[in-house]
Amino acid sequence: MTALTIALSKGRILEESLPLLAKLGVDPAGDIDRLLRVPSRDKQVSLLIVRPADVPTYVEHGAADLGIVGKDVLMEHGGSALYEPLDLGIARCRLSVAAKKDGPRPDGVQRLRIATKYPAITRRHFAAKGEQVEIIKLYGSMELAPLVGLADLIVDLVATGGTLKANGLVEIETICQVTSRMVVNKAAMKMKHAAIQSLLARIAALVQ
Ligand code: ATP
Ligand code: MG
Repeated sequence: MTALTIALSKGRILEESLPLLAKLGVDPAGDIDRLLRVPSRDKQVSLLIVRPADVPTYVEHGAADLGIVGKDVLMEHGGSALYEPLDLGIARCRLSVAAKKDGPRPDGVQRLRIATKYPAITRRHFAAKGEQVEIIKLYGSMELAPLVGLADLIVDLVATGGTLKANGLVEIETICQVTSRMVVNKAAMKMKHAAIQSLLARIAALVQ
């Protein structure tokens, strides 16, 4: 048997991953609220509980063989150092541009100021439209920025739109749809081929 390590995105994705992990028999057999490395019910599989934005790094460097991570995080991280064989269809949301509901449309503005946790995606998106923008990097609660004049627009994740609405913002453009993906370390895919392929096949059968 081959030992496998899976890096899980702590928070919302972990919550939504648990039923899937349970069906695979690799759900955590330990306290996931306190432990950072947790055994799974399968002795061959161990789990790492890491911040979502760190999952690509763990998998890229081989500290984990596989990972579960949002497409938003993968796009922001960039590069092709990982395989992305499966869309798990969980933690579904979209990455959107939003503006203040009332208040002048920031159309005539020379250089739009955009608050976001996703500077790379934002820069690419606006550059593709030929727009140079000023990016204001934030780590949370992007919705606040337009309300206090810190930014003209935000680029953020939207699921129901409830948070935007509650803060007097409207979605003006969707950049892309987001779901969580299974990612695989490239060397592990070769070295642990049989174990990884069999796990991927079982996951694929579950998420069809
Ligand atoms: P950290 O705790 O490190 O700040 P975070 O705040 O990004 O991480 P979450 O809010 O749990 O952590 O979001 C993690 C991932 O869950 C996102 O990258 C995205 O893929 C997905 N996600 C975020 N918000 C939603 C949502 N409203 N509905 C569905 N999926 C979401
Ligand atoms: Mg958070």
